[in-house]
Amino acid sequence: MDHAVTAAQFSWNDARRWLDGLPGGAGLNIAYEAVDRHLLHGRGDKVAIRWIGKSGERQEFTYTDLAQATNQFANALHDLGVMPGERVFVLMGRLPELYVAVLGALKARCVVTPLFSAFGPEPIVTRAEMGDARVLVTTPELYQRKIRDVRERLPGLKHVIVVGAAPSDEPGVHPWGVLVSPASTRYTIGHTDPESMALLHFTSGTTGRPKGAVHVHEAVLAHVVTGRYALDLHDDDVFWCTADPGWVTGTSYGIIAPLVCGVTNVVVEAEFDPQTWYGVLERERITVWYTAPTAIRMMMKLGAEALQGVDLSALRFMASVGEPLNPEAVVWGLKAFGRPFHDNWWQTETGGIMVSNYAAMDIKPGSMGKPLPGITAAVVRRLADGHVEPIEAPDVDGELALKTPWPSMMRGYLHEDERYRKCFADGWYLTGDLAHRDADGYYWFVGRADDVIKSAGHLIGPFEVESALMEHPAVAEAGVIGIPDPMAGEVVKAFVALKPGFEAGETLRRELLGHARKRLGAAVAPKQIEFRDNLPKTRSGKIMRRLLKARELGLPEGDLSTLESDEKKGAP
Ligand code: ATP
Ligand code: MG
Repeated sequence: MDHAVTAAQFSWNDARRWLDGLPGGAGLNIAYEAVDRHLLHGRGDKVAIRWIGKSGERQEFTYTDLAQATNQFANALHDLGVMPGERVFVLMGRLPELYVAVLGALKARCVVTPLFSAFGPEPIVTRAEMGDARVLVTTPELYQRKIRDVRERLPGLKHVIVVGAAPSDEPGVHPWGVLVSPASTRYTIGHTDPESMALLHFTSGTTGRPKGAVHVHEAVLAHVVTGRYALDLHDDDVFWCTADPGWVTGTSYGIIAPLVCGVTNVVVEAEFDPQTWYGVLERERITVWYTAPTAIRMMMKLGAEALQGVDLSALRFMASVGEPLNPEAVVWGLKAFGRPFHDNWWQTETGGIMVSNYAAMDIKPGSMGKPLPGITAAVVRRLADGHVEPIEAPDVDGELALKTPWPSMMRGYLHEDERYRKCFADGWYLTGDLAHRDADGYYWFVGRADDVIKSAGHLIGPFEVESALMEHPAVAEAGVIGIPDPMAGEVVKAFVALKPGFEAGETLRRELLGHARKRLGAAVAPKQIEFRDNLPKTRSGKIMRRLLKARELGLPEGDLSTLESDEKKGAP
């Protein structure tokens, strides 16, 4: 609990005044701020969640509906004897019950851990064991396919709540329709210490074994501030966050921030498909849209023509997170949507957006923006004695660091104190990402410290090379790694996926090598280019450079629990 907010940080105290706190001074609870508080401010009849199912069916939940449904879920946990602090895991797609379960469990002061519904049994077991899962909320299909056979390996998992009405004769399996639906719609949230654990989030596993980041109820302060500043949320907004609730963006911004800000949160069950998405933007009159580079690159692949005739007149603000947003993607957004994508940067560990291109500032394509109010960032150099030193000069690469504390800062890596401690030095949280700051105070992402390439005395960030390749009309995606070289130490190798209509072959390879050399200079440009149908990605849409590298060098592939599209499958 080293990183509690101190009163000295006046901007966070401003944010405190935007929230209510539990009645009678009973603390601060994320779900209360997200749901019940709005009933006292005349917003009970406003639509909190508009759910759009896979086949286009719609359901709307007002803030009052959501307050009652989450009360029922909190009562159901109570009826099962589940205690505050115990862990409630959710494993399902974007169904309305997921939102009710997450917020209801927070009301009951349980700890919520979302899991990707696409996880197989092994990643589920590992996380459930590590996180000490007491309750699992899932669908009957997922239970059948992924949980039933591994349940005996999880003796701590006492209750499984399955969405649906059909009674079950399996011990500890409770149909929602039997347990939750009949529960009382009245519930009083118990005293919630702002420092008590609220969410346990596993990281994306891009660089290795996922870590369990611990977040507390006080994080809601950051959710409201970043919702307003970084995502520009105003009272009448209709907001859509495309992230899966199995990772942190899908909860911090797919559930909590929009509701805390009192807007209408649109939830789309369907997976990514440009045509469906454009239909949602138009029909639902989305005003603020939060998505990710991997989706933007797929839309680019399809071309701006697909947007012709789509009415985007309601759309005001578009933001992106999760990976570096190539400058080409910002430029394309402007052309295709008539508005730019606003890049922002954060991590599972930071609990909320830390650096962003907010509405009021000019965007520099390729920059992730500036630190948000209440956040102090720096580019630091690690010294040999374990200390760090901020680099004052502009345009010098170093590690991106954030001054502790802030409300949504992780309070630990579960069961990994040493790994947690190593993230801090001299009052700074060290992010593991490399960046530089320009003379105007904008931050520029260089690469993950693990991915940076050292070639003939140069430090090369993969992002710069990938962005240069993306400027070529044939390139849909690029992933860049360093491979050992007897002369240079390492040389740059690029894996490239092409847009439809382009032929992989020697001519194009030469053309791309030439293009990169012209753009980047011979020292930084790739020496080798290999064409792939797809690049390996995490389920949160990040290119797994470590896997490209492991496969290239014939090294062990490491933890692949979060791997989504396996390039081997797509390769010819
Ligand atoms: P793991 O920590 O398990 O390796 P991960 O770091 O990918 O996985 P997340 O917390 O989901 O897990 O992702 C945070 C990371 O994503 C950041 O540290 C950064 O490397 C990258 N990232 C997120 N947003 C941006 C952005 N706007 N620009 C550049 N990189 C970004
Ligand atoms: Mg990380």
